[in-house]
Amino acid sequence: MRTEAPGRVLALDELTWTEIRDLDRGRLIALLPIGAVEAHGPHLPTSTDRVIALAMAREGARRLAGRGLLALVLPPIDYTAAPFAAGFPGTVSVRPETVTALVADVAAALAAQDVRTLALANAHFDPTHLGSLYAAVERIRKENGPRVAFPDVTRKPWALRLTDELKSGACHAGRYEGSIVLARRPELVRQERMASLPARPTSLAAAIRAGQTTFEEIGGHDAYFGDPAAATAEEGEATIAVLGAILEEAVVELLGFE
Ligand SMILES: [Zn+2]
Repeated sequence: MRTEAPGRVLALDELTWTEIRDLDRGRLIALLPIGAVEAHGPHLPTSTDRVIALAMAREGARRLAGRGLLALVLPPIDYTAAPFAAGFPGTVSVRPETVTALVADVAAALAAQDVRTLALANAHFDPTHLGSLYAAVERIRKENGPRVAFPDVTRKPWALRLTDELKSGACHAGRYEGSIVLARRPELVRQERMASLPARPTSLAAAIRAGQTTFEEIGGHDAYFGDPAAATAEEGEATIAVLGAILEEAVVELLGFE
C-alpha cells in the first residue's frame, strides 16, 4: 500500500485535536513507546527504558513515513511492573493488571477515534511486564480494538538481529542499553562511573528460567548486568536503526503489504 501522498512523522502530544481529527485514517499508524521507571545501575537514569522506547518508536515512525504512512508517535507509558528492580530506590513498580488495563484502555480510546493500527515499541524486559503486554494484546483483540504489532525483541526472530549482549541475556543497564542512552541522551549518563564498572555477565534470562525474581538474588546489588564500560554512542545508533527496522517490519507484516 504505497501511496502517492507523502508520509509524515507526527507526535500526538504536539498536535491539536483538529489536526488529529483531519488525519487520513487509512494511512494512520499509532506507535506507543513503553518504558519503565526503574533502577538502571549507578550510571544510567531511571528513564532509560523510556529513552530507548522513544528512540525505537521515532525511528520506526521515520521508516513508516517513508512508505507514505502517517506515523503518529503517542506519549509514552512509563509506569509499569518492574518487580526485579522493585527493591531499589527510584523504581516505581505497579501491578501487572494495571498495565494490561492501561494499554488496553489506550487502544480502546484510539479505536473510538477510528485509529485502526497500533504498534508497541517496548523497551522494558521484566517478565512480569512482558506478560502484562501479551495479556493486553489479547484483550485488545477480544474487544475488537486496533490491529496490534508487538515485536517482542527478547524473542526470536527479532532478538537474533540485536547485539551479542542482548542475546546473552546479561542485559540490563549494560552495553546494549548504555549505548542507546549515550546516543540519544548523553547528558543523562554518568560516564566516569560507567567506565569504572566491571562487567557482570550473569544471564537474566537464565536466572528467570531458574525461578529467581529479583536483581539482588542474582548478584545485581547495584542494578546492572552486562558490560556498561563497553557502551558507545556508535553502537547505540546502530541498535536504534535495527529497532526501528524491526518495528517497521512488524507493522508491514501486520498490514500485509509488500
Ligand atoms: Zn532497561
